[in-house]
Formats: sequence, C-alpha cells, structure tokens
Amino acid sequence: MENSEIEAETQIIRESVKKLCADFPGEYWRELDRERGYPTKFVQALTDAGYLGCLIPEEYGGSNLGIREAAVILETIHRSGGNGAACHAQMYIMGALLRHGNDDQKQAYLPDIAAGKRRLQAFGVTEPTSGTDTSRIRTWAKRDGDDYVVNGQKVWTSRAEHSDLMLLLARTSERGSGPKPHDGMSLFIVEMEGAVGNGIEIKPIRAMLNHNSTEVFFDNLRVPARNLIGEEGKGFRYILDGMNAERILIAHECIGDSRWFIEKASTYAKERIVFDRPIGMNQGIQFPIATSYAETEAAALMSAKAANMFDAGKSCGAEANMAKLLASEASWKAADACMQTYGGFAYAEEYDIERKFRETRLYRTAPISTNLILSYIAEHVLGMPRSF
Ligand SMILES: Cc1cc2nc3c(=O)[nH]c(=O)nc-3n(C[C@H](O)[C@H](O)[C@H](O)COP(=O)(O)OP(=O)(O)OC[C@H]3O[C@@H](n4cnc5c(N)ncnc54)[C@H](O)[C@@H]3O)c2cc1C
Repeated sequence: MENSEIEAETQIIRESVKKLCADFPGEYWRELDRERGYPTKFVQALTDAGYLGCLIPEEYGGSNLGIREAAVILETIHRSGGNGAACHAQMYIMGALLRHGNDDQKQAYLPDIAAGKRRLQAFGVTEPTSGTDTSRIRTWAKRDGDDYVVNGQKVWTSRAEHSDLMLLLARTSERGSGPKPHDGMSLFIVEMEGAVGNGIEIKPIRAMLNHNSTEVFFDNLRVPARNLIGEEGKGFRYILDGMNAERILIAHECIGDSRWFIEKASTYAKERIVFDRPIGMNQGIQFPIATSYAETEAAALMSAKAANMFDAGKSCGAEANMAKLLASEASWKAADACMQTYGGFAYAEEYDIERKFRETRLYRTAPISTNLILSYIAEHVLGMPRSF
C-alpha cells in the first residue's frame, strides 16, 4: 500500500487533530518549554475530543480504535509542531491493563481514564543501576498480607507528577529464581493520590527537553494485592507487547517531527535570499532536505506496516523495532538539515526549530536506544550470535 493510500484511510482523524492542534501554536509549547511546564490544557483538549481513550473498548467508554489510529493522532500532533510526550504513554501502557488486567481492574480504571477523570501516564521501569538490562532492576515488592510493600527507586519516570496512576515493574522474586532472567518481575497499578508523601517521593529531573521526567523513590509503599496485573512473576512478559506498541507510536511521532522539519526547511530554502538568489537553488541546501524526505517516507512505510501488523494481532517485533530505528534516524537527520538550512536563525527560540531539535533527539536514546535495536535485528532477525 502506498503512503498516500494509508494516509487517505485516516484522513478524517488527521484533519480533526490538526484542527485541534491549531489552538496550541508554537508560542504555547515555547512557554511550557521555558518553564518546564505540563501542557494541561492541551491534554484536556485531547481527552475531551476522545483521542486519549482511543484504544479503550467502547464498553469502558473508549472508542476502540487501533494502534494505527493512535499513531496517526500522535504523528499529527508532532507534524503540527507540538509534542505528544505529555500523553503518549497513556496509549501504549494501556495495553498491559487491557490485555492482562482482570475485570475488576478494568472496571475500576478504564472508564475513568476514558472520561479523563484519571490519567495513566507514568511507567516506572528504568532504574539508575540497571540501565537497559531490565532484568537487573532492584525495586522490590514484597507480599505482606493483602498488600505488597514496595522499596526501591526508578529514574526518568516521565509525567509521574502529572499522572494519577503508575504502571510499576518490580521484582517479586530473585533474578535467577526462574528459567529466564526476566522471570520474577511483576507489574502493578499504583494509585499516586495518597501515595505521594506516604511511601512515594518524586524529584523532578531538569533535562535538555521538557519531558516532565522524574526520579521516584519508594519507601515502604503499600500497594493492595488486587492491583497486581496478571500473575506474579510474569510482569515483564506483559509489558513486552506494550513495548512494540510504544515503538510504533514513537516512530510515528518521529515521522511527524521529520515532516515538520522538512516543510520548514524547504519553505525557508525557497524564501531566503543570499547572494541574490534563494538558498534553495544551491544543491548543498537541497540535498540534505531531499535525502531526509526520502528516508522519512521509507520510514513511514515501515511504521505503517508495523502498525497494521500489530492491529492484526501478528507478531511484529522486528517491524516495530525497525520502524522506530528508521524513523528516529530520519527525524534526527531532518532536524539537522533544518538547523543548517535556517543558518543562525535556527538558534532563535521563536522559530521552534531548536526546541524540536532537542525534542526529537530523545528518540535515538529512549524508550530504547539505537544500539539495542540493532542488536535485536542482528540476533533475532538475522540469527547472529548473542553479544550479551
Ligand atoms: C527524557 C527521558 C524520558 C524517559 N522516560 C522514561 C519513562 O517514562 N519510564 C522509564 O521507565 N524510562 C524512561 N526513560 C529511560 C529510557 O528508557 C532509558 O534512558 C533508555 O532505555 C536507555 O537506558 P539507560 O539510560 O539506562 O542507558 P544504558 O543502558 O546505561 O546505556 C547507555 C548506552 O550504552 C549503550 N549500550 C548498553 N549496552 C549495550 C550493548 N550491550 N551493546 C551496545 N551498546 C550498549 C546503549 O545503547 C546506550 O547508548 C526516559 C529517558 C529519558 C532520557
């Protein structure tokens, strides 16, 4: 299927998200970036329009759409110069609750999330000492009567201060107690209200971009056992599916960024006159932008393929990883081409280029870094020996 055909299928969503985003122009995002604020109004507008509940089944008040549609929503936000990071986690971490939560948990949380009464936007996986090797996390949840008692620390937990619920991965038995290193970790829904200051302490991290990231400390936090998702010890398996969704959605955010950079750069190249002619007449200016365009469209095809496979229930680990790899590299190159095309003006905040340059760089590192994707392709797709 051509990119244009895929886009035609989702045209209505694209148009209406674009319209919504027009109320949140560059100045809105610049102001938040300056003060490291949370885009509450924007998230509320998306929720009111039903976009944040798009993956929730209708019986719980959502619109029961697929990852493809969710991806289009996020891509359009980024294509419009905004940033979906404030709320994208709600889309991809939802899967663990949808697929592995029990009826009581779904009843307790999904209708409120769909109605925008509660946000599920914090995902506590990364820890300071474990790095990408999630099997070595040290946060523990010990069973004590009807509760689990959680102790440990997470880092880079985005939106923890702006989320009512956190999906938390913690060890419930030692690494090595099961056949695989990732056995023995469990997944919990943590209600933040009441827990902050009472077992949870949150410290914001001042970072290169406005991502509302934090350190989260757990000190004898009591989590009711009814908030364990699925079976104890199988938490990592439950988040794996969600990781494919996350990669597909992030890939689409990158494509949105990339298309924004390419449009900015090509427009400016036509208008900016230096040496009595538009700078876009110079192939030194044209070629990086044209290369980015070609790479972005190729990445968009892979991303659409991954999304369609995900929605069809097909195994899509390779495609989701490749989509995220290709799209994050394409957006990074487009960002650099745009910076170069704008010359000195690229550094002025008012054009939003330097902000989006900082924002799109993240996706070569998080949620999974480029090296780790390449290692996945080498081992799992090409069958080369494991390196770690
Ligand atoms: C702004 C921001 C927001 C984030 N939000 C969240 C969040 O909400 N929730 C959450 O849980 N986490 C979050 N993260 C964490 C993010 O997922 C991790 O930073 C990322 O997965 C990389 O892990 P690390 O920082 O521990 O790097 P490390 O694992 O320490 O790796 C450092 C570098 O070494 C490379 N490397 C490591 N091992 C190998 C190897 N075997 N072969 C080749 N190269 C290797 C990596 O590719 C990387 O380039 C966020 C991070 C950032 C910066």
